[in-house]
Amino acid sequence: MNYQLPPANPDTVAHFKRQWAQSNGPTPVVGCECGRHLHIRNMFRCLYCGCWFCQACAEVHFGKTRVEYAAERATEAQGAV
Ligand SMILES: [Zn+2]
Ligand SMILES: [Zn+2]
Repeated sequence: MNYQLPPANPDTVAHFKRQWAQSNGPTPVVGCECGRHLHIRNMFRCLYCGCWFCQACAEVHFGKTRVEYAAERATEAQGAV
């Protein structure tokens, strides 16, 4: 299956290819860029570059922690009332 074009950065391309091969292995355990290895079920996949991330790295990659996001939503909800 061809989900998306590979990312442009050569380092990221190599990382993505490694993750892609791992995700298609007998057990879909993928290595995050930080060195952790987790089941893809426990990782977060970027819509844009296609790489999987553990939660800590995903928060950095996506630019916001889940706590920050929840706080923003709470503030919005208060404003809407
Ligand atoms: Zn990305
Ligand atoms: Zn990580």
